[in-house]
Amino acid sequence: MTYIITSPCIDIKDGACVAACPVDCIHPHKKDADYERYNQFFINPFECIDCGACEPACPVMAIFEEGLVPESEQQSIILNRQYFSKS
Ligand code: SF4
Ligand code: SF4
Repeated sequence: MTYIITSPCIDIKDGACVAACPVDCIHPHKKDADYERYNQFFINPFECIDCGACEPACPVMAIFEEGLVPESEQQSIILNRQYFSKS
């Protein structure tokens, strides 16, 4: 289980979830070379401790437990997997 950031984050990317996360598992980090390349954040499923702190912090309700991602946002699960499988 993990949490997934969905499309309402796109172009908002305000970092409220990043500030709320106790294990800093929301990527890319500002210091990363690819930070500007992405218009949304992704949650690392291997680092996320499923605490749920990010979900209520999001002003546009973009964050869901993986099993509760709406049907219309399933693509976000794929995008998240792709982000963390990149070399
Ligand atoms: S559920 Fe907790 S650990 Fe996982 S991304 Fe959200 S705040 Fe971070
Ligand atoms: S709090 Fe929501 S809108 Fe802001 S960066 Fe996180 S997922 Fe995106």
